[in-house]
Amino acid sequence: MYDFKGQTAIVTGGVRGIGKSIVEGFLRAGARVIIASNEVATEQFKQDTSEFADKIDIQICDVSKYEEVEKFFEYVDKKYEGFEILVNNAGIRKDAVLAMMRESEWHDVIDVNLNGVFYMCKFAVMSMMRRKYGRIIGITSPSGKFGFEGQANYAAAKAGLVALTKSLSREVARRGITANCVSPGFIATDLLQDLPDELRNTYIAQIPLKRFGKTEEVAACVLFLASKEAAYVNGSTLEVTGGL
Ligand code: NDP
Repeated sequence: MYDFKGQTAIVTGGVRGIGKSIVEGFLRAGARVIIASNEVATEQFKQDTSEFADKIDIQICDVSKYEEVEKFFEYVDKKYEGFEILVNNAGIRKDAVLAMMRESEWHDVIDVNLNGVFYMCKFAVMSMMRRKYGRIIGITSPSGKFGFEGQANYAAAKAGLVALTKSLSREVARRGITANCVSPGFIATDLLQDLPDELRNTYIAQIPLKRFGKTEEVAACVLFLASKEAAYVNGSTLEVTGGL
């Protein structure tokens, strides 16, 4: 649908789940992709993206560690002329009701899902401002809007991500940079694999479209917000939830 030839996209956590579909979408649309990943690519990832092998660069980087993010951008600045797109996709869940939530479960989720986004945006924006063009997309969640039981840490981080993105969108708009969020509903990935069947069915009953979403359906919305055509969409959140 969109033409990203000559453009470079950075995607965090892009070797599986929603991130992998976003990476595949960019590659098919002609972009080069640099992945900041906590893990090496799986055989499945290599197989599925083999025709684009020369356009993928996977760098091990834990986005929750400031020094690793700094090193990642030093590498990118040295190796590439620049990049146009940043997708803050990496995210984790460590659910527990608040009274039982360990301090580490709170901090781990905030560290990856919110602090990691701050670190990535901080370095990316410096480079984008120099080139007077950029598209930043964060992956939030309905949990950040409604709050879900057992997700005080995740909901707080995802609401924070939306607020961060809105503030950033005002700061950088004059430099040709937009910042937006995509909010996927329940999407069938590893992140939801541990849901008990009963809870899964309860969630499906609440979704007007009566099914979980597909990773490609989220990727399509990310590609739209990353496109030149989306130039006037800024500071917004696009919900991909089946009407949840
Ligand atoms: P997955 O668990 O399938 O994939 C997440 C990816 O992020 C993995 O590759 C993971 O690597 C990586 N990652 C995790 N922590 C870090 C880190 N510190 N640094 C770098 N990479 C990291 O999740 P989904 O694809 O389902 O989720 C993608 C995004 O979408 C997340 O932000 C999630 O919160 C959000 N989301 C998902 C929904 C869903 O229903 N699936 C709904 C709403 C939002 P590793 O495991 O090796 O750390």
